[in-house]
Order: sequence, then C-alpha cells, then structure tokens
Amino acid sequence: MSEGTQSEEPAADVPERGGRDAVVIGGGLAGITAALALADAGVRVTLIEGRPRLGGLAFSFQRGELTVDNGQHVYLRCCTAYRWFLDRIEGTALAPLQDRLDVPVLDVDKPEGRRLGRLRRDALPVPLHLGRSLATYPHLSLAERARVGRAALALKGLDLADPNLDTQDFGSWLTAHGQSARAVEALWDLVGVATLNAVAGDSSLGLAAMVFKTGLLSDPGAADIGWARVPLGELHDRLARKALDSAGVRTEVRTRVTSISTDENGRWSVQVPGETLTADSVVLAVPQREAHDLLPHGALDAPENLLQIGTAPILNVHVVYDRKVLDKPFFAALGTPVQWVFDRTDASGLREGQYLALSQSAVRDEIDEPVAVLRERYLPELERLLPGTRGAEVKDFFVTRERTATFAPSPGVGRLRPGARTKAPGLYLAGAWTATGWPATMESAVRSGVSAADAALAALGRPRPARLFEFEEAA
Ligand SMILES: Cc1cc2nc3c(=O)[nH]c(=O)nc-3n(C[C@H](O)[C@H](O)[C@H](O)COP(=O)(O)OP(=O)(O)OC[C@H]3O[C@@H](n4cnc5c(N)ncnc54)[C@H](O)[C@@H]3O)c2cc1C
Repeated sequence: MSEGTQSEEPAADVPERGGRDAVVIGGGLAGITAALALADAGVRVTLIEGRPRLGGLAFSFQRGELTVDNGQHVYLRCCTAYRWFLDRIEGTALAPLQDRLDVPVLDVDKPEGRRLGRLRRDALPVPLHLGRSLATYPHLSLAERARVGRAALALKGLDLADPNLDTQDFGSWLTAHGQSARAVEALWDLVGVATLNAVAGDSSLGLAAMVFKTGLLSDPGAADIGWARVPLGELHDRLARKALDSAGVRTEVRTRVTSISTDENGRWSVQVPGETLTADSVVLAVPQREAHDLLPHGALDAPENLLQIGTAPILNVHVVYDRKVLDKPFFAALGTPVQWVFDRTDASGLREGQYLALSQSAVRDEIDEPVAVLRERYLPELERLLPGTRGAEVKDFFVTRERTATFAPSPGVGRLRPGARTKAPGLYLAGAWTATGWPATMESAVRSGVSAADAALAALGRPRPARLFEFEEAA
C-alpha cells in the first residue's frame, strides 16, 4: 500500500465526490459490489483487500499452462443481482446462460448399466415447464415422480416470510411429504446439495424452499444455468478491477485491515499496516468470523451470533486426460460419489486433451483426505461414468479444498444472519452470509453489497444510482 494518509483531495481524473468518502473492507463479490455502487453514487471509495487479488472465494490461479478456478461456479437466470454485476463489469458475454435448462443426469448404479436422464424445461408456464421432464425422468419410479409433483406444489404454497420455516429441516419436510430416499437422492439433493452445500436433512426448510421456489417454481426460465467460459479471475479480478478503476475507486490489495474505530465526531478510522484511512462510512464485507473480530464494541446486539454461523466445505477434483473423454459441457451423476462434472478445457487454456473438474459439495468427511486417497477413489468412478477415460492417460490430477466455502445452511441459521445496518452509525455489513434470504452464493454476495451501499447512501443523503436497482427482487 502506498505510504501516507489518504488524501482528502480527489484525484484529477476522479469526479468531485463532495467530501463524502467510504472504505470498503474485503474485495470479494460483496465488497466489489458495495464499492461500485457507492462510487456510482458519487462517494469517494477505497476498497481494501487482504489477498493479492479481488474475487474472494471465487478466484483463479495458475498451474503450469492451466488457469484453474478454485471451484466451479454456476449461477441461475433467477440470480438477477449477479447478472446485474456481470453487466456492470462488462462480463455478461463471458458467462452466458443456457438457452433453456438442460441438465444431463447419469446414473451408474443400474443393473442394466449406465443410464442417462435429463432435467430440462419446456416453453410452458410454471409448473408445466418441468412436467414433461419429470414425467420421463428415468431415475425415479412412476409413483415417485407423481409424489415429487405433489411435493413441488406443496413447496410452492410455503410462505417464505414465515420465520418458522427456518426452524425446520428440509429432509423431514420431504419425508412428511411422501418423498422416498431415492427421490431425495436423485432429485432434491441433486439440486439442493449443489445450491445449498448441504443434504436436505442438514438444510433449513426456509432456505431450501427459497431455492426451489425461486429456481424451479417462479418463472419458466429461472433455473437456466450460466457459468463462466473464462477463468473466474478474468471476471471477478481483472474485469472487476477495470470497472472499479474507471468508477474512480482506489483499490488496495495485499492490505489487511487490523482494526476499525470511530472518533467523537463519528468519523471512522480504518487501520492498515502503515496507514490510517478515515471515512464517513465503512462497509465490512469480510467473512463472518473476521467481521466478528473487527466489529467495534456495541455495533451488534449479539455479535456472538456471527461465531455460531457454521461453515461447510467444497472440494474440487481436477483431472487432465490426454484425450477427449466427455462430449458435454457438464453433467450430474448418481450412484457414485461423483456429484457434478464440468469440462474446463477451453476456459483453462489447455491445448491438448481434456480437463474435467468435479465439484463436490457438502463433503465434510472428504475435505481433508490426502490427494492419493482421492485419486484412488475418483479415477475409477470416472471410468464407470465415462467409458472414454478407460484407455486414457491421466496427465494431471490435483484437488482444491475450500474448507469454509459457504456458511452451513442449517435450520436456525436465519436468526443468526445480521442485516446490512449495524448499531454503529456509518458502519455496514456485507457478505453472502448476511441476511439476504439467499444461501451462500454469488447472488447473495452481490445482494448484500447492494444492501450495504443502499443503507450507506441513505445515511449520507445521496441519491441511489437508479441503474444499481434495476434487477428484480426474487419471487
Ligand atoms: C469452491 C466453491 C464453489 C462455489 N460454488 C458456487 C456456485 O456454484 N455458485 C454460487 O453462486 N456460489 C458459489 N460459491 C459461493 C460463492 O463463491 C460465495 O458465496 C461468494 O463468492 C462470497 O462472496 P463474499 O464477498 O461474500 O465473501 P468472500 O468471497 O469471502 O470475500 C471476503 C473478502 O474479504 C477479504 N478479507 C477478509 N478479512 C480481511 C481484512 N481484515 N482486510 C482486508 N480484506 C479482508 C478476504 O480475503 C476476501 O477476499 C462457491 C464457493 C466456493 C468456495
């Protein structure tokens, strides 16, 4: 970080900020969003990130010729805030959505061998858009399919504003609504584990209902899947940085905030090594544990709640083959420990062969397994799933482990998640873990950044930038 105290004068190429300034702490999606939103409203913003790059939990790194994502990320068409974010950083074309939801689901645990099913939608109104796909889904019996339809309608009737939903677990609700263990595995958990990072029995009914209602039962196109065709760092670091620079945000990476405090006039001081930044507003967009440690006394009624929000891991298993072994961009798997498999070849820059990334959510038992153990487990499973791998040479095998990938969406987590406003005037919270109503996703992170910026702007008496709030609220 440059030396000296932050200048109060705007740089020559930065629009006049009218003396209002903010420090945003944390350069993940929540912090980037808050910084952009505040700068767009004319506030002078400094964004501080501890690591050498922006993007937080959704980033890329180099491994030889490969550019690797720490974990496969997808979003859905209903993620209106993340889509706004992609637009704002001019990244939409690099992370396109499917024209229509289409998920190949391969079951390898059938007596007759491998069986491919598909979850896709038709151009029909909700819930008929999924009717044909469900009726022909081969991984469930006829009776199970009928019961899934009835449970989906019951789910649609749940009131997401009812706080009691958060006290119940989704697994018990599914059982009470006639869902067999097979239906949970082959349908509800197939979607739920990937979006919530927990099996149904470990998930809050409130969060699960939110995911399924918004994604599958709101708008026919809501669950169409989008993912980056470039490394995540291209979006969340390079393009985000470009957007921040042109919005006039001063961004400092490799800079950890060690404390924050206010003076008697309510002006904030943010301490980083060798410098004290001062500001009217501070947005704390760091993970919940770090937020707890930085929060000044009295800023939250129950700061200990932040420490009670659990975390859940995600493991990615990366395999480079010497040849093409998969002819689809991705698929989901049943009857095997493998969950979702993505073709990362083009995005990674690999020139020969094929690079697959296995995205393994809610893997508490596996996250610390040695690479050799994971290799022995997963390569034979890929041979069962993809016959083309049987004669192929494995050129590279490695794993990426994110032990605190998301907050655990356990029943009761809702009451632990604070909103953007704190009791300390001028101090706001952001992060996927705050009270956005969404599970820990890129969508939740962006929404939280918008909420924090909105609250800060209201207190500063600044008009909201209209284009910030163009995205629609969730159903
Ligand atoms: C492997 C994996 C797969 C995932 N898959 C998906 C997916 O498919 N779809 C999806 O929507 N979401 C997915 N997620 C979740 C998504 O990545 C996160 O919810 C989101 O990126 C969180 O953003 P954030 O800004 O809230 O927090 P973070 O990304 O955690 O950002 C917080 C930032 O604060 C910085 N920081 C902390 N302390 C300090 C300090 N004292 N000073 C300065 N900086 C500090 C950190 O370095 C970090 O960059 C996945 C996550 C992982 C890990």
